[in-house]
This record gives sequence, structure tokens and C-alpha cells, in this order.
Amino acid sequence: MTKFSDLNLSPKVLKAIEEAGYESPTPIQAGAIPPALEGKDVLGIAQTGTGKTASFTLPMITKLARGRARARMPRSLVLCPTRELAAQVAENFDTYAKNVKLTKALLIGGVSFKEQDQLIDKGVDVLIATPGRLLDHFERGKLLLTGIEIMVIDEADRMLDMGFIPDIERIFGLVPFTRQTLFFSATMAPEIERITNTFLSAPARIEVARQATASENITQGAVVFKPSRKDREGTEKRKVLRALIDAEGDSCDRAIIFCNRKVDVDIVSKSLKKYGHNAAPIHGDLDQSQRMKTLDAFRDSELRILVASDVAARGLDIPAVSHVFNFDVPSHAEDYVHRIGRTGRAGRSGKAFTICTPRDEKYFDAVEKLIQKEIPRLDNPVKTEAPAEKVEETKDTNEPRKSSRSRSRSKSSDDKRQVETRSEPRTEKREEPRRDTRDNRNDTRGKDRGGRRDNNVVGMGDHLPDFIALSFDERRAS
Ligand code: AMP
Repeated sequence: MTKFSDLNLSPKVLKAIEEAGYESPTPIQAGAIPPALEGKDVLGIAQTGTGKTASFTLPMITKLARGRARARMPRSLVLCPTRELAAQVAENFDTYAKNVKLTKALLIGGVSFKEQDQLIDKGVDVLIATPGRLLDHFERGKLLLTGIEIMVIDEADRMLDMGFIPDIERIFGLVPFTRQTLFFSATMAPEIERITNTFLSAPARIEVARQATASENITQGAVVFKPSRKDREGTEKRKVLRALIDAEGDSCDRAIIFCNRKVDVDIVSKSLKKYGHNAAPIHGDLDQSQRMKTLDAFRDSELRILVASDVAARGLDIPAVSHVFNFDVPSHAEDYVHRIGRTGRAGRSGKAFTICTPRDEKYFDAVEKLIQKEIPRLDNPVKTEAPAEKVEETKDTNEPRKSSRSRSRSKSSDDKRQVETRSEPRTEKREEPRRDTRDNRNDTRGKDRGGRRDNNVVGMGDHLPDFIALSFDERRAS
């Protein structure tokens, strides 16, 4: 088995790795670090959870430790699709570069330009940025990209989803031709293939096998039920959800509830709080500092239930959770595997429950087809109520009250809901820095999304493969 000491990393980096508690490199690290240290381009096909962040940060730190940054000319650039991922990469740099003198700046929305400008002016070795914010800085004339020696593209397939490929192509044109490129993507959609063919030079290709099924450690179940009335669907689903949570008792100590729509993330979270649960929402319309605070509380076990959208939760390094609840069946089957892969990590067992109503059935079928397994049906823990004349809506919902026109109205709102549900990934664009004008452009989105849903590509996102569980740093996992 490869050891970190076989990889030619600098002694200071090796020391930091030891202090992080890692025993041996993961496959993506063992594969990517040697060519990266030799100065070769790397194409890493791996998802979050495989240790891919260290596979580019460790060689970068080793290489950048020689030499110094000049004012306004960063020496390396890491591009990430979202603020959270950028912040996570920055944290990784802090961990692995703790014994080395390197400076870094994080260019993400929600942070003042002034502060970021000051850092850049001083000169940074590592610039970690979202594409839009980087270009905004560049266009303000405060940043020169001609000193970039190493450029990393992280989560390229998510960049594609979010319509950032034109920005990425532009940035490739602004950095020196001689730079080294380390490129990571969970999947190789045709558009990603095109980018790598255009901008990478004879890359070392390292592919980490992705799992097409959920871990065996996860007990799955689904409550399939027909709401007593259409306009009571939300209320009844929340009731089912609460009953499922309550039935799990104390064993449900850290749970994520996934909703397809941001509006439901808010409603479900509010409703749970109203019923005495320790829950908080996370989605892209929330203030950045609020999102960070919520995530920290969840990581520190101060928050028991995180109610999330796929976009907000994807790619985040969240320790093993005991339970995943799908308030809605995800409209893209692969998201089901991402979601439930949040639990049952690091050799622990986990439970994943899905609530399915008739409108979700086709998505549910797609999930079962993808995982090639029937998800056991559970009895509805709540007795379906007979249709009532008077609708008793909870205050925390914005669903329509009974109305004589509800039939025609609900048809159109259903149609709208389907559209919103199907286009959930499109909202990712808004989940990026809202104050970044560039990041809010949506002119290219349709074109970029073209490749993503290619049938040949199944994104396994952030599922944690078994091998990493063997050496998972327990201090972080606990
Ligand atoms: P990543 O795929 O980069 O998001 O990493 C997922 C998690 O694995 C992070 O919590 C890392 O700290 C952890 N990790 C990375 N490399 C190793 C390793 N060699 N051994 C154990 N844990 C690791």
C-alpha cells in the first residue's frame, strides 16, 4: 500500500498530514500527487468524499513553498463552484499548510471587495475563488493572473450545471499558457471532455471508481401515501415526516431532511421548530454567514436536524449523519444516492426514509431503477385523514387554503411545481454569490446544462466510498 512518505511531499506537509490523523493516501491522492509534483497536468475523476481536495492541495503546498508571491500576482488559483466549497478548500489549505509560510485569499461573494483587495495587494500564494467573483476582481483591474503557475478547477461538473463554463474558458485564457492545470470532476460529461481536451496538456488521468449504488450500511424505507386532499399534501407530508422522526427517538441524533424546493426547506424547518425540534434550514437564499453558522452548529452537534436543498448540501463535508429523510423524492435519481450517502458513512449504519406521494411516483421508479433495488415500503405512520370540509392549515405553510377554485388553481400550481422541481439545478446559479453580478447571469445556462444529464454519466457527488472509511479521521468524524 502506498504511504504518504512515498509520494515526495515536503517534510512539512508530511508533518501536517500526520497531525491531521491520516494514515495512508486515498486512491485519488496516491494517483494524483506524484504527477502533480512532477508538474504534469492532472485530470482527476473523483467526487467529494474521496480525499480529492488534499490530492491537489498537498502537491500545491509542496511546490509553492519554494518561492514568494508578488503584489497583485497570485501564484496559484483554485476555482470552486460555490462559496461553501471555496471556504472548505481554504480550510483544507490552513490544515495542510500550517507548517509552511504561505499566504492565501478567498475571493467569494458576501465578503467585501475592500478586504479581498487588500490581501491581493499584499501578494498571495494561493487564491481560492468562485469564477464570477474572480472575474469581477479582474475587471476592476486589481488582479493580475499572469503569475499563475498552478490552476485548479474543482468540481467541474458542478460548474457546468451552474453555467460557469464560459467563465472558466475565459479564465483559462487569462492565465499563462505554461501553467500547470489540475482538473477535477465527478463525471465526464461531453462538455467537460471538450474543456479538458482544449485546456489540459497530456494530463495524467486518475479515475476513482464511483459507486452506482448506496452503501449496504444504509437501511432504506419509503412511505408511499396519497394525501387525503391535494391542498393538504404539504401538511400531511410534514405530519408523516414528524411521525418518522419521532419513531426513531434518540437514535436520530443528527439528521438531514432534503426538500426539492427552497420554499419547502423553509416551511419544513419552521414547522419542525414549531413542534419542538431542533432544526434549521440551509439553502442558497440564506445569508452566507447564516449558512456557515448553521453548518458549524450541525457539525458540532448543536443542531440536530438540518433541512436542506440538494444544492446547498452537495459537496459539503458533513460528518456522518444518523438519518436522512427525503421530504420529496428527488427529481434526478442520482441525487437520491447523493442524499442517502450522507448517512451510513465510515462503517456506521444509517437510515434513509423517503416520503412519496402520487406525483413523485415516476421519480421514485427512476430511483429504484438506478439503484437496482426495491426500496421497502413502510406503513404510513400517520392514519390518512378522511377528507375534511374545513382545511386546518398550519400557520407555517403558504399552501393554498381550500377554495372553490382550488381545482383549476392547483392544476396550474402543480404544473409550476413540476417545472420548479425539474429545474432545481438551475437554481444553483442563484445559490452562488448573489451579490456577484456575474454569477447571477443566466444567459448560458441552458447551453451548459446540455451535457450534464447525459445518460452515460451518473454523478455520484459526495458519496463516501468504503476505502476512505478505513482511515477516516475520527476526530472530524465524531
Ligand atoms: P474531500 O474528498 O477532499 O472532501 O475529503 C473528504 C474527507 O476525507 C475530508 O474530511 C478529509 O479531511 C478526509 N481525508 C482526506 N484525505 C484523507 C486521508 N488520506 N485519510 C483520511 N481522511 C482523509
